[in-house]
Amino acid sequence: MATHKLLLLPGDGIGTEVMAEVKKVMSWLDAQGIASFAIEEDLVGGAAYDSCGLPISEEAMAKAFAADAILLGAVGGPKWANVPYEARPEAGLLRLRKDLQLFANLRPALCYPALADASSLKRELVEGLDLLIVRELTGGVYFGEPKTITDISDGQKRAVDTQVYESYEIERIARVAFELARTRRGKVVSTEKHNVMKTGVLWKQVVSEVHGSEYSDVTLEHQLADSCGMQLVRAPKQFDVIVTDNLFGDILSDVAAMLTGSLGMLPSASLGGVEEISGKRRALYEPVHGAAPDIAGKGLANPIAMVGSLAMALRYSFGQIEAADRVEAAIAGVLAAGYRTGDIYSEGMTRVGTAGMGDAIVAELGKAA
Ligand code: NAD
Repeated sequence: MATHKLLLLPGDGIGTEVMAEVKKVMSWLDAQGIASFAIEEDLVGGAAYDSCGLPISEEAMAKAFAADAILLGAVGGPKWANVPYEARPEAGLLRLRKDLQLFANLRPALCYPALADASSLKRELVEGLDLLIVRELTGGVYFGEPKTITDISDGQKRAVDTQVYESYEIERIARVAFELARTRRGKVVSTEKHNVMKTGVLWKQVVSEVHGSEYSDVTLEHQLADSCGMQLVRAPKQFDVIVTDNLFGDILSDVAAMLTGSLGMLPSASLGGVEEISGKRRALYEPVHGAAPDIAGKGLANPIAMVGSLAMALRYSFGQIEAADRVEAAIAGVLAAGYRTGDIYSEGMTRVGTAGMGDAIVAELGKAA
């Protein structure tokens, strides 16, 4: 059995609490001989700033480059509100994403049947929902130049943002989406605004070319981004993989997230390119939620997004699909059995804290073994 080199960066606030629970799951997988991990651990965010005056140290960056995958908890909190801008906790996370060139952001929206009533949509529309948004993360209008606000005449100002995409950026994100669709239900919806934007015209053309030459076994559909937003709240189960640019992906992934209930449930991944020598794809897995300073240190945080992030690492970095399915089934199992942290609690359920939820997931894994 291959040993996976994993770097754990718990970070700040509830990051350290939820990371403790994912360690229990890793120990269980290791003890059962299902997956073997060589674990390194380091500091990021405010914790790193307190220790070395930087939001991530050079040693931690070196470990990140050496790892097969990184699991990150969360960074930030009011304690570091006044540190210099370049040393703020979020800068540690941004440096990781930038230096590792993580250009593909994966945001799954999974609706566990036991939580379908927590969605703002009707149960029948979301029960069993399982879609994946693949968002381009390093290009587009957030980074394009010129990006300015200038004075014009009569006290008026003009603001300019620039949406730029080159074909290689679209090709590589399209490939990630098609590869992922092959491991799922084989369908990709590509979304842009080719009716009003030149970047949309190029996006549609390049995605179609990559599809035609390399992935004709996958079904490809094009939808305008506004129409895709409408379809996401009308009939979300029609989607398998959605691939889109940075701006539309930012919006559509938050819409998809709210179909499923709490922030504490949502894992994510950021992937880079495949390295020529090792054949490995750089990858960082983290919950969508932040450091939640309002509940930090109280043992109240929901660790499911963090455990789900490990399941994503097993699936997308380590090719351990069965183990990933098993971890996700254990999450579904504890929810079906009525275990709830405060953020997803409803009348008549069994209220547990962070450690209680972690223990319940490990016990559920044990039942299925
Ligand atoms: P947040 O996600 O930390 O919290 C939003 C709300 O959701 C809070 O009420 C919190 O208690 C609740 N919540 C979040 N995760 C939860 C969980 N696992 N279980 C139960 N409840 C949970 O967002 P925020 O309050 O806007 O930000 C707090 C800090 O986290 C800020 O410093 C922000 O910059 C940082 N942040 C970091 C990341 C990251 O590390 N990727 C992401 C978002 C925010």
